[in-house]
Amino acid sequence: FQRLRTGLGRSSNRLGDRVSSLFTKKKLDASSLQDLEDILIEADLGVETAMAITDRLSEGRYAKGIEAEELQEVLAEEVERVLAPLAQPLETKKPANGPFVLLVVGVNGTGKTTTIGKIAAKEAAAGKTLVLAAGDTFRAAAVEQLKIWGERSGAKVVAGAPKADAAGLVYEAIDAARDADLLIIDTAGRLQNKAELMAELTKIVRVIKRRLPDAPHAVILTLDATTGQNALNQVDIFRREVGVTGLVMTKLDGTARGGILVAIAAKHELPIHFIGVGEGIDDLAPFAAGDFARAIAG
Ligand code: GDP
Repeated sequence: FQRLRTGLGRSSNRLGDRVSSLFTKKKLDASSLQDLEDILIEADLGVETAMAITDRLSEGRYAKGIEAEELQEVLAEEVERVLAPLAQPLETKKPANGPFVLLVVGVNGTGKTTTIGKIAAKEAAAGKTLVLAAGDTFRAAAVEQLKIWGERSGAKVVAGAPKADAAGLVYEAIDAARDADLLIIDTAGRLQNKAELMAELTKIVRVIKRRLPDAPHAVILTLDATTGQNALNQVDIFRREVGVTGLVMTKLDGTARGGILVAIAAKHELPIHFIGVGEGIDDLAPFAAGDFARAIAG
């Protein structure tokens, strides 16, 4: 939580500060509420949530003004209200007919491989047997990185030759994971070649379903908090093309732009499983709506 708070509070544009400086100077009238709405929208919270907050502040009891702390509390409460129902742990219970299959998708650089490494470490520590599939066959570095993460958690890593067919590799990985509790599949994220990438991902899903009709049991999309508004488009695309069952937002240790998660939550209502707060193996925290809301508003 402390790292999240430092991250979200790092920028000079810290939302809480901007908001309180606005209100220690002015009364809550139509024009200052409009200014507030602009600040909230600039902080990527989304129009809906921004309006819910200003609506609440235009209630009569704030007409004489509001203390900075009280204002931050209103902000935090509204943000928490949007996020709380979506804070859901990732359940990875092994089904009877094979491993739990977790597919991880997202644009290159958003933290897929790192997140897989962190999840693998948690699951291994909980006593699960794991197989990791290096499905980002396009980038040799991604394969190497996954192997390193696999070693750290004692997971078996299935990797192919450079540029190997990703769906073929996934097929092999399902075989290798027959007796495992959990199979986690890394994928490519070349959004600059969207059509090709989506074709590759849908083919992977088809191959999985052919072997295990109920799988993938979860499809996680990783989002990089530092990209701000762009993350919203990424959810749209991946959700439409491959189906997404849950989100992980990474790099919240280094940015004040986490507000976009509120807009995404309001629009998509997808479960949020984890947040990434660093590059280390333990830097993945279960998503806690209250902590996040307070870090944003603080
Ligand atoms: P991929 O291309 O989606 O697989 O992304 P990677 O897992 O390779 O991550 C890209 C970069 O972001 C790497 O340098 C990671 O160490 C870094 N990274 C991933 N998650 C986090 C995080 O939560 N915080 C920070 N600060 N860096 C992260």
